[in-house]
Amino acid sequence: MINVPKGTKDVLPEESYQWQFVEGVAREVAKQFSLKEIRTPVFEHTELFQRGVGNTTDIVTKEMYTFLDKGNRSMTLKPEGTAGVVRSYIENGQFGGVLPAKMYYIIPAFRYERPQAGRLREFHQFGVEIFGAKGAETDAETIMIADTLLKRLGITAKLYINSIGCPVCRKAYNAALKDYFAARLDGLCYDCKTRFDKNPLRLLDCKEEACKAINANAPSILDYLCEDCSAHFAALKEYLALGGVSYEINPRIVRGLDYYTRTVFEFVSTAIGAQGTVCGGGRYDGLIEELGGGASPAVGFAAGIERLLMVMQNSGVEIPQPEKPVVYLAGMDESCRKKCFEICCALRAAGVIAEYDHMSRSVKAQFKYADKLGARFVAVVGGNELAEGAMNVKCMATGESEKVAFENAVEYFLNK
Ligand code: ATP
Ligand code: MG
Repeated sequence: MINVPKGTKDVLPEESYQWQFVEGVAREVAKQFSLKEIRTPVFEHTELFQRGVGNTTDIVTKEMYTFLDKGNRSMTLKPEGTAGVVRSYIENGQFGGVLPAKMYYIIPAFRYERPQAGRLREFHQFGVEIFGAKGAETDAETIMIADTLLKRLGITAKLYINSIGCPVCRKAYNAALKDYFAARLDGLCYDCKTRFDKNPLRLLDCKEEACKAINANAPSILDYLCEDCSAHFAALKEYLALGGVSYEINPRIVRGLDYYTRTVFEFVSTAIGAQGTVCGGGRYDGLIEELGGGASPAVGFAAGIERLLMVMQNSGVEIPQPEKPVVYLAGMDESCRKKCFEICCALRAAGVIAEYDHMSRSVKAQFKYADKLGARFVAVVGGNELAEGAMNVKCMATGESEKVAFENAVEYFLNK
């Protein structure tokens, strides 16, 4: 037997309605905020992620699904959504310069990680990108899109915000971090020892307990923000207050990717244990230029759909069941089943959810199956009904039956 690859999951027919619900709510929220969907390829040139996610990130150093295609080009399955969107934005003339460019996507993402609860090798993200606007109101709006989504899904999560400044203020901060960690290098994990040289900010993101303990007393970026970055962060807080969004400032949040500037944020749920970050994002004003486009500010986030679903399941959120058939048409024998087929076709053409017997089962077994499907009515056609030109319609909830002429079937069920 061939199994599903490690770290991947099937979404089975009985559970896909849950995904459709989350995706449907996400699309509704996106519409309300005037975001348009962008779809980019599942794989891109590897270089895009090396430059766009960053060569010192865990994603690029250890987690990418990279392969040579038959033309010997190095390709990578996208580990996140932003780099592809930025590539497309640049390649398509920055969409004619209409600003801001407000986009969303729902994508599979691939990372070669150690699979565990809430951590998969193929997972899915709902993401948002807003390009062209530099003011803190856009950061606030981005956060509010995530906040609205979570609320509509019935998810309670805590919002943490931080500012990691710009390259100017980060220089001084990086130096302070290096001083702090240099004296404590022995206590850090192997990965952090290498991060220390390449990108000390990344040390704050480590999930090892020993490193977390050392991080707790590290200097805070907020003490190193330049005047402009400070003002931007203050404005963000003001806009969040105007929007009625509550938050906590957490100067340890730096986000995993290299390209963030100023605002970073996470929504964390306590309902699913260690992998509680359901959504993360921030501002990345340098990325578009870094990837060869005209300088343009940008802000966005991505939410992990599996984690959203886990939180909903663990906190008992009721996901609306998919629509059930209005009527199941049960035929006694072959000629009756043909009549059922014919009526079923007419009902479906009129937009009624209708089903009939595919298995040549007895009427009793068809009733059982109709019940399993959750059909509200079962219409029985036997020899007598065929002769009379009317079927016997039973309401499954009340048990009551009535005769409905074949030619009135569509009208009858359209009104149900
Ligand atoms: P984490 O801190 O959990 O490693 P991350 O910082 O790597 O997350 P991002 O790159 O910001 O995550 O991705 C955004 C969201 O995608 C996360 O908040 C999470 O909900 C989800 N996510 C990230 N990696 C995985 C994964 N391997 N499996 C499932 N969901 C994931
Ligand atoms: Mg990660």
